[in-house]
Amino acid sequence: MDYNKYIKNVPDFPVEGIQFKDITPLIGNGKAFKAAIDEFVEFAKEKQADIIVGPDARGFIVGAPVSYALSLPFIPIRKPGKLPRETLNYDYELEYGTNSLEMHKDAIKKGDKVLIMDDLLATGGTLEATIKLVEEAGGNVVGLGFIIELIDLKARDKLTNYPIKVLLKY
Ligand code: AMP
Repeated sequence: MDYNKYIKNVPDFPVEGIQFKDITPLIGNGKAFKAAIDEFVEFAKEKQADIIVGPDARGFIVGAPVSYALSLPFIPIRKPGKLPRETLNYDYELEYGTNSLEMHKDAIKKGDKVLIMDDLLATGGTLEATIKLVEEAGGNVVGLGFIIELIDLKARDKLTNYPIKVLLKY
């Protein structure tokens, strides 16, 4: 599948200098969306994941269908103040701005094999925060899956301990 034709580059969004990769044409095409998710379903099987974790908000779009396909739990990582029960939290920097993420404290058990899914790997800040939360809870990160990797930002250098699957590199 030529996923590239479903990604729109939007210059200077949300701030000047950022080349925003818009995935909405991809998820807006049923066949392309299914083909992309199916690749991550195979990856999840290969890594024997037993939980799928996705960060707010586009991690939900790509993570939840993988959970559904394999009848696995989906754990949302959310922006502050959204989760109703006791949370673990972590602060980090984005390609643009800063952020903080939270996960329910009881969401992951020690030894759970976790696949983390997100739309795009940029600086890796979001992923590092997500990994920290999963590992603090005792989870074992068995894989990271993204539709897109922005290779110039070199996030992969910080994530050398983890198997990564990406569909498109820019
Ligand atoms: P990062 O923490 O820098 O790896 O980026 C985290 C999230 O920000 C990604 O999962 C995207 O949802 C979003 N993001 C960052 N940079 C871009 C970009 N150039 N185009 C589209 N989304 C982006």
